[in-house]
Amino acid sequence: MLKRFIKRLLGQKSTADEPASPLRRIPLEEHGIRREQISACALHVTDTLQQQGYLAFVVGGAIRDLMIEARPKDFDVATNATPEQVRGLFRRAHIIGRRFRLVHVMCGNDTVEVSTFRAHTQEPGEGERTTDPHGRILRDNVFGGQESDAERRDFTINALYYDPQQQEIWDYCGGYSDIRQRLVRMIGDPATRYREDPVRMLRCARFAAKLDFHIEPDTRAPIAGLAGLLANVPPARLFDEMLKLLLSGHAVRAIHQLRAEGLHHGVMPMLDQLLDDQQSQRFVTAALHNTDQRVQAGKPVSPAFLFASLLWHPLQPVWQQRLTDDENEQSALFAAMDEVLEQQRSRLAVPRRLDGNIKEIWAMQPRFVQRGGGRAWRLVTHPRFRAGYDFLLLRAEADHSLRELADWWTAFYHADDSLRDNLVAALTEKAPAKRRRRRKKPNANPPAEPDVTHD
Ligand code: ATP
Ligand code: MG
Repeated sequence: MLKRFIKRLLGQKSTADEPASPLRRIPLEEHGIRREQISACALHVTDTLQQQGYLAFVVGGAIRDLMIEARPKDFDVATNATPEQVRGLFRRAHIIGRRFRLVHVMCGNDTVEVSTFRAHTQEPGEGERTTDPHGRILRDNVFGGQESDAERRDFTINALYYDPQQQEIWDYCGGYSDIRQRLVRMIGDPATRYREDPVRMLRCARFAAKLDFHIEPDTRAPIAGLAGLLANVPPARLFDEMLKLLLSGHAVRAIHQLRAEGLHHGVMPMLDQLLDDQQSQRFVTAALHNTDQRVQAGKPVSPAFLFASLLWHPLQPVWQQRLTDDENEQSALFAAMDEVLEQQRSRLAVPRRLDGNIKEIWAMQPRFVQRGGGRAWRLVTHPRFRAGYDFLLLRAEADHSLRELADWWTAFYHADDSLRDNLVAALTEKAPAKRRRRRKKPNANPPAEPDVTHD
């Protein structure tokens, strides 16, 4: 691609083995994706743009997913109209982003993201592009043609353009055959493309895991050597990309893929320890497995619950250390929570708004052990009880010594008032300490349909 560009600059013609335009237009009869498979909002956007004489295609993940008969998460549109021109055509449309300006067009509850064709990084052009000293692109708002837009995308499988009018796929990078062969292949020179944007290494692992594709050998080769570049990525961007990976519905596979590629060191300070220790690995796997099942069943997943799980084991030694330093249990726990959250925030910016929920889930864990004297009654009415209880179940899945405790809480949670009294009484009979009277019986019964979103 670079060779071709240099030739173009020097006014040389491409040789026969390097066609100037590798465009392949694939008809409906061959690919089988019909216009009706595209969302109404995306069709509205492409039809409107095309009626105005612009090029407009559905692009990226949606076409890839339709080709493998998966349900697309969303439909993105690419066009040669500028963001201002796009905004002018729709009543509810906003330009968003600085690093990468896009238009969000809204129809009812649906939003379609419209991006203007961008020039490939090796091409000069009008507009604004800045990079850091490592070659990482900081801003990319240089507009270009459709072919260069295809070439600046990450993987060939993400660079297919679908024209809903003609029901035709336009393929500049060989993505169509790569999807058929189930291959994740970087467009252009992989090492250069990872340097431009190291997050592409995580994306590579995510797509391989999510789609159950292989990573093409040349695409895989440079990753181990470049993994350290993830350290230059702003923690907020790393969080966004990690969250996509964790919520992909295939997080267990994706995390193992990260490990296989040697990428787990750069992402979360403790992910390497987590995956190297057997007990914590069991716990993290149970948490991610649970998340995968929820995502696949279309149920909501709370990022706070997810990060509480990922950081639970790293919290333990810090908490223990503070306990041995003679702090009381609660203050040791809260100080340890702050320390662990801050420590990992330097690499992966888990938003502070999640801190409260993460801490509540953690702080409830020691309270599950203390059940006498009305404490169980109070805990079960805690507004986040369900999240804390689910977390306890998860811990018990990885650590069998907690099974009895988890079973007790399951019984208590589902019991009526008199059965709850019996369950608490049985505890004190087992351990005949001081038998204290429960003073107040708070509004006891759990909601019939538990809130399992943990939010
Ligand atoms: P998903 O279905 O998981 O959302 P996706 O392919 O739609 O997958 P997005 O992150 O939504 O992925 O990005 C949309 C498209 O933008 C991609 O298909 C790809 O063509 C392009 N893209 C996104 N991130 C990058 C990147 N870091 N470098 C190059 N191209 C990118
Ligand atoms: Mg997408």
